Amino acid sequence: MNEYADRLSAAQQLMRAEGVDALCLSVGSDLPYLTGYKAMPLERLTMFVLPAEGEGTMVVPDLEAPRLERKGTPFAVQGWGETDDPIGIVDRLLNGGANLLIGDETWSRFLIELQDANAARSVATASDLMAKMRMVKSPEEIASLRAAAASVDDVVGQLENVRFSGRTERDISRQIIEFTTESGHETMDFWIVASGPNGASPHHEPGDRVIEHGDAVVVDFGGHQNGYASDTTRMFVVGEAPYGFDDAFQVLLRAQIAAVDHVRPGVTAESVDAVARGIISDAGYGDLFIHRTGHGIGMDTHEHPYIVEGNEQVLEPGMAFSVEPGIYTPGEWGMRIEDTVTVTDDGVERLNRTDRVYRIVS
Ligand code: ZN
Ligand code: ZN
Ligand code: ZN
Repeated sequence: MNEYADRLSAAQQLMRAEGVDALCLSVGSDLPYLTGYKAMPLERLTMFVLPAEGEGTMVVPDLEAPRLERKGTPFAVQGWGETDDPIGIVDRLLNGGANLLIGDETWSRFLIELQDANAARSVATASDLMAKMRMVKSPEEIASLRAAAASVDDVVGQLENVRFSGRTERDISRQIIEFTTESGHETMDFWIVASGPNGASPHHEPGDRVIEHGDAVVVDFGGHQNGYASDTTRMFVVGEAPYGFDDAFQVLLRAQIAAVDHVRPGVTAESVDAVARGIISDAGYGDLFIHRTGHGIGMDTHEHPYIVEGNEQVLEPGMAFSVEPGIYTPGEWGMRIEDTVTVTDDGVERLNRTDRVYRIVS
């Protein structure tokens, strides 16, 4: 409980420093990060209104109120009935405050109605403020990420003994969902099984393609455990690698290892991308590495800091993100190696610890 009180007062401190009158959060992870309460993504408005000074108020539909455990929650609760006007309630709580920050994932309808309620209001996104807070994880948060990573690592180990050939991508993905749920995840968020030429599409949805001898298979999956996300990618090769695959893979492996080893406090996010991209480009595969090197990970699978050219964010201990370079040859195969890592006081810790080489499966 104290954790949330601490986060709320840290947010208010940042708000005062930036002349913000109030922060309004609705659906998405910013709200549970600050309050412990996750709003259902309904058409009915849930909005937490936090003034720069004093207590915040959770405006919730009456029918959602029972889900709010009130025991010592560091905020007030204001329910609204089916015929009430929730925007009117939020507008009154804002009390004329002119400078508002609004959560990124708020439905645009509510934002527009709030602006209509007071034309003098200036509204900006809460992205920067919330990123500043959420990017640096507490030791407890890192422990949750580590546990989630250990679960998907177990699943990678189990997949080594699974038969791939003769089965559809969808069949393998169902097995991944089953293994991951059994290993302790509450939810599965994605389960990419991309075989043969399908591997060249980084976010391929598993389908009816039957996996054959000689296929390279991209397996990228993750979910949530104890509220924190997992995300790992490993390569599986059925029998023997297709033409050209091994040469490219050795480059990719070098790039991923070098990028992870580069991570430490004081270097920029974009420099991690540059290390991976430099090695892949020098080997002649630069045009085939078609996405950024990684994304932050925490309560959301994709969050700040993004490991991408142009992001000069300096890495600090407690930040967590993926390092996942890939090489994609359209019509032939694709490959990616992905670990979730965290910045330590003097370097990096890989939260995913399975071997990064490709596995030969039957
Ligand atoms: Zn991805
Ligand atoms: Zn992934
Ligand atoms: Zn990822």
